[in-house]
Amino acid sequence: MDRRDFLKTSIVAGAYAVLGTPWGAAKENQKPWFDRPMRWAQLVLVENDPGRFDPDFWLDYFKRIHADGACLSAGGVVAYYPTQIPLHHRSAWLGDSDPFGYLVRGCRKMKMAVIARTDPHAAWNNVYEAHPDWVAVDSKGQKRRHWSNPELWVTCALGPYNFDFMTGVHKEITALYQVDGIFSNRWAGHGTCYCEHCVRNFKSFSGMDLPRTSDRHDPAYRKYLEWRIKLLKELWFLWDRTIREVKPTSRYIPNGFPDNIVTGALSDIFFTDHQARRGVIPPWSNGKRTKELRATMGMKPIGGIFSIGLEERYRWKDSVQSEAETRIWVAEGIANNLRPWFVKFSGTLYDRRWLKVVEKIYQWHYRAGPYLRNVAPLARVAMVYSEQTDRYYGGQRWQEQSKGHGLGMYHALIEARVPFEMVNDRLLAPKGLKPFKLLILPNIAALSEAQCEQLRQYVQRGGSLVATFETSLYDEQGKQRRDFGLADLFGVSYNNRLEGPMKNSYLRLKSDSEKGRFHPVLNGLEDAYRIINGIWRLDVKPNLDFPSPVTLVPAYPDLPMEHVYPRKPDTNIREVYLRELGSTVRCPAQSRIAYIPWDIDRTFWDIMNVDHGRLLRNVIDWTLNEEPPVQVIGPGILDVTVWRQKQSMTVHLVNLTNPMMMKGPFREFIPIGEQKVQVQIPRNITIKKIHLLVGDKTPDYEIKDGIVSLTVPSILDHEVVALDIRVN
Ligand SMILES: [Zn+2]
Repeated sequence: MDRRDFLKTSIVAGAYAVLGTPWGAAKENQKPWFDRPMRWAQLVLVENDPGRFDPDFWLDYFKRIHADGACLSAGGVVAYYPTQIPLHHRSAWLGDSDPFGYLVRGCRKMKMAVIARTDPHAAWNNVYEAHPDWVAVDSKGQKRRHWSNPELWVTCALGPYNFDFMTGVHKEITALYQVDGIFSNRWAGHGTCYCEHCVRNFKSFSGMDLPRTSDRHDPAYRKYLEWRIKLLKELWFLWDRTIREVKPTSRYIPNGFPDNIVTGALSDIFFTDHQARRGVIPPWSNGKRTKELRATMGMKPIGGIFSIGLEERYRWKDSVQSEAETRIWVAEGIANNLRPWFVKFSGTLYDRRWLKVVEKIYQWHYRAGPYLRNVAPLARVAMVYSEQTDRYYGGQRWQEQSKGHGLGMYHALIEARVPFEMVNDRLLAPKGLKPFKLLILPNIAALSEAQCEQLRQYVQRGGSLVATFETSLYDEQGKQRRDFGLADLFGVSYNNRLEGPMKNSYLRLKSDSEKGRFHPVLNGLEDAYRIINGIWRLDVKPNLDFPSPVTLVPAYPDLPMEHVYPRKPDTNIREVYLRELGSTVRCPAQSRIAYIPWDIDRTFWDIMNVDHGRLLRNVIDWTLNEEPPVQVIGPGILDVTVWRQKQSMTVHLVNLTNPMMMKGPFREFIPIGEQKVQVQIPRNITIKKIHLLVGDKTPDYEIKDGIVSLTVPSILDHEVVALDIRVN
């Protein structure tokens, strides 16, 4: 695509980014197609399905589960329709059939939205022979055979195979079947490609050779990341424009994009490809991925692709998960506003156990109807995440496993049952932060001056902050500053020294020396005297007066056992810095700031120490400095989310209490007992009715001082407290 075309498509893209506002008030039947589907079905055909699989079985299943959107295999490595495009490989079993067309027509009869799936990442030998330059090249200059199927070649994602050949494929599919959209899997390449196009195009973009490293501090690698995003964006524009020229309402939907800001700006609809757990991942990870996307997409529809099979590294793609595992994963998605989307590979079934499971979930989802059409989350807490920190920060010993900061904070918020959203650090303008009273910065190390200024203004408007470790100690390019960018807010400066990995270091917990009272951040820890410290700490110097509820007990020998006694049992070095900014003209509401100079969040993720969880919860409660929108008291681990719909409010309670919580799969659900739920009722709202959508019960409730209280007797996997409301 030449430069002029790119500029034109940029303008088009800009225009629809504006048009695709998430808060439109269109009536259901006037809504654009992408707002309508609530339950998606994806059937990924395999090459020998045509003639063997029964399309009517699938159409009947879609009907039974009330699926209102379908994603169906169309083309790319294998075409499932009679394509006329040279080198577009028709399934060897296709004959004169058109299974894709048959399924599309069947879905249309049921008024389902239909998007076509393509997969451009692999090609056949005849493609290689006709256009050897379409094939990806490895760092040794070899054309890349497919790693899983050596019959095939890996294609170059950033060259003419995608830009020319696949553009033709997408155009043909849209013209023949008038699909609502095209969704491509594995469209963005697999590792750096060193083909002639990539070498030349990168050189003309950057003046450099393609990097041979993935070191984030290497200038060529940094340029490469920038160039790749630029080209993938061009490709997205090109495919989107191409299919809109054929059918204006159609949309191109990439499966994943390496920048959430671009994704949020360019998409009217998107899907998370986070299909199931693998290794040590808690089920809340499905909610986390959604929150990250919602931070840039707003309330535009997001489908949550879930696998009915295992997602472990040995890739049993024809397998089936346990019922409890599928249900908890999908419940987490639904509670976080994902629209469920199952994916089944192969139209021929071996293990049929999953069919009933998905049927049950989807039928409940259908019945719950308008209560799942969320308009806005009601959370008052948001955790910031930073793609630039992920990209540019790191390389030092104390920066290893830096993802642990965000994961540990996320887990602490789940355990504390705090409903929360996530915020992208490049969207800190007042409008985006308006819903939130508290922002949490779990080692958001790389922040620009402008971002720091936005946070300062947020605090001036009455917002509170919790920040940990190296937050704001680096600029947006990952270059270290002399002092924190937020030193004025923290009230402390970096002392140019770091300590760790610490062994056998502690935190001394102290009451106020005059009144003998404990600070609220020590609630529940009054008897502890001291608790364990983290692993790395920054040495900082306070620029203001601070209370001293938590101070350092320096590391002391852990061997020989005879020498395990504190050399310095107490210091006046604070390990938590707490500020109250009070009500002033500049800060009308009370802002509170907590800065923790050590890696409490990452250590929590590593060790899961209960005292660290308690301390984090207390710090969050204290800085929030207002009644939370919902409080749920009772045993167990629950993910709590709270939503507003047009005529109702909902509180989702997902029961994560399970011996398999940190490593799947769930074998069974362990029901938890009574949960006392208190929901704050906004001033202009009257409650008409309360119903439990899973238990299908109407609970007794009481309203007092703007708070509705009720008891949920038990939760198996998921409960939704639905409050029908009237806006006065
Ligand atoms: Zn290439």
